[in-house]
Amino acid sequence: MSTTMLSPSETTSRLLHILTSRGQSDYIGEPISQLEHSLQCASLASLNGADNETVIAALLHDIGQFLPAEEVRQIAGSVKDMRASKQSSTGKSQSITGDDSGSVGRVGHETIGGQYLLSLDFSPKVAALVESHVAAKRYLCATESGYSEALSDASKTSLEFQGGSMSEDEVGQWKRGEWSEEMARLRKWDDGAKIIGAVVPGVDAYESMIRKHLEERAATV
Ligand code: FE
Repeated sequence: MSTTMLSPSETTSRLLHILTSRGQSDYIGEPISQLEHSLQCASLASLNGADNETVIAALLHDIGQFLPAEEVRQIAGSVKDMRASKQSSTGKSQSITGDDSGSVGRVGHETIGGQYLLSLDFSPKVAALVESHVAAKRYLCATESGYSEALSDASKTSLEFQGGSMSEDEVGQWKRGEWSEEMARLRKWDDGAKIIGAVVPGVDAYESMIRKHLEERAATV
């Protein structure tokens, strides 16, 4: 994609602009905006001592919901091509038509977001944490008593479309995967990032963290 030609600071500005300009709509079924939700999630990660890659993933975990429809279609197209030869192991996705919802066909917003960040040269860990945040809910429903009951009504409803709790086989596969603990922690911050009126740092607080991450990545290639 043409976005790979951007410098680390241009990519950072572009992402933060997408968050602030397109994140004003309600977080699906919740009484706060997408932007507030993303900022609260990043703040929880930061307050709980997460490393920078995890904080970045927390901030950008729903970026697949924010992207312009044309970019979503482009990414979904390449994901479908990849899946023609390899079945995804991250769980089932919502079936939604190609529009601004961040999902196309059976490619969910979490996959769109993870693949988008990879295309911008974010690390595999950042992309994996973003891509797994829906599967992490399915994992926690299967393994933690009381977790599914505590989900918000909107989250309970979306769980049905996302495939419900993981099966025993899926749980085993999940636990063997890299970063599985951080994935579950991020999911809990995601669930908790729905506080009306919470005062948390704004997008500017993450500008240098994201830019440095991309600069380090560029320097190692
Ligand atoms: Fe979220």
